[in-house]
Amino acid sequence: MTDFDVVIVGGGLAGSALAIGLAQAGRRIALIEAFAPKTDARPSFDDRTLVINAASLNILSNLGILDESLTACPLKRIEISRAGAPGHLSLRAEEHGCDRFGAVVVARELGAAMLRRLETLDGIESFCPERLARITAGDEQIDIQLDSGKRLRGRLLVGSDGTNSTVRRLAGIESQHHDYGQSAMIFNVSCPDRAADTAWERFTTTGPLALLPQPQDRLGVVWIDTSEQIDSALALDNGALLEKLELRSGHTPGGFASPGKRVSYPLALTRTPRPLGRRVALVGNAANTIHPVSAQGFNLGLRDVAALIDHAGQADDPGHHNVLSAWYADRQSDQAATVRYTDTLARAFSNPASIIRLGTGLGLFAHAAIPALSRRLVRAAMGFREPVSSLAVERVR
Ligand SMILES: Cc1cc2nc3c(=O)[nH]c(=O)nc-3n(C[C@H](O)[C@H](O)[C@H](O)COP(=O)(O)OP(=O)(O)OC[C@H]3O[C@@H](n4cnc5c(N)ncnc54)[C@H](O)[C@@H]3O)c2cc1C
Repeated sequence: MTDFDVVIVGGGLAGSALAIGLAQAGRRIALIEAFAPKTDARPSFDDRTLVINAASLNILSNLGILDESLTACPLKRIEISRAGAPGHLSLRAEEHGCDRFGAVVVARELGAAMLRRLETLDGIESFCPERLARITAGDEQIDIQLDSGKRLRGRLLVGSDGTNSTVRRLAGIESQHHDYGQSAMIFNVSCPDRAADTAWERFTTTGPLALLPQPQDRLGVVWIDTSEQIDSALALDNGALLEKLELRSGHTPGGFASPGKRVSYPLALTRTPRPLGRRVALVGNAANTIHPVSAQGFNLGLRDVAALIDHAGQADDPGHHNVLSAWYADRQSDQAATVRYTDTLARAFSNPASIIRLGTGLGLFAHAAIPALSRRLVRAAMGFREPVSSLAVERVR
């Protein structure tokens, strides 16, 4: 039996960030991951274009993960519009007293940077490829058995093992599930005319479309619609796909070219109101898997991680009930508010009552007309809902 301060199950974006932060704090960590440490093998490190908000950039920077390649696409402007309706909401970072709202990174590149950082740290023992088989929680520690038969012992077990979390199931932590009946299709396209520092989000009656800047005049497309519509769009030839994209985005014909590989994700909400068990905590998608409409999933998970590093990094007993309760008290309202906000937007697109869709649209555009509301929305979207973790406070470089 090998002893650790913290055993982390799931070496995706959330679990890797947690391992790095706790190792930086001097903790002895076991990191268990089902897929080999190659960025093209891990499901978390795929072609997704992620909007990383300003608080998350601070956290990643303080964890020593951000390098030049990850900050090549700073986000200075966000343009939000509705198909078939006049007007749009234009957010500029400088008007909110900051140089950028965040940055756009490809999940695969962020994953590669995390793997590089993990290799530089002492105190992390990797068990990979390995899967969790069984847990037994005691008063002082939690015993963990892996599929291979290996046994580990930790003071704290963290589940960062994604939406269908085995840790959540084995610890008996309750969660709720809602299928949106929607899917997201992602791919990238070439588009030399678009500004490199601007993201576009367009709301259509069946789902939102986001166009996110990537290096070399490319845009990451996140196209959300009913799952049937996404299945049809996946089957289109490239010419027909680009025509549909022009229509959906309201872009001038001929602006997009060379679409890359298309991948789709079914969209569902998994909400864990109390992501805690005996000597167990859940972070990231294992706790809350949310709709990508407002680009908050990883950002929310990273705030869980940063707060857990604050609470468990220095505690005498990182898995003690009081430590985990204090962590949860800090995270509760941010988790609830972020889930509520994205779920309200997401359900508006799947609800046939168009009045709800209209209400959501009006709500968004009201933010533009009322500066105080807009400021509050922007600050929350940038990840600075109180209490802010110490890692999110400022960039160290
Ligand atoms: C289309 C789309 C666009 C998105 N855009 C954004 C965005 O712009 N901004 C944003 O913040 N978020 C975005 N998200 C959300 C973001 O991708 C996720 O929140 C994030 O990837 C979750 O990371 P995770 O590490 O919590 O979970 P996962 O990525 O699911 O990682 C879980 C890891 O655990 C491992 N694992 C699972 N079970 C076991 C086991 N039993 N034993 C060992 N290992 C195990 C898996 O192999 C995996 O590596 C988007 C999501 C989608 C679908």
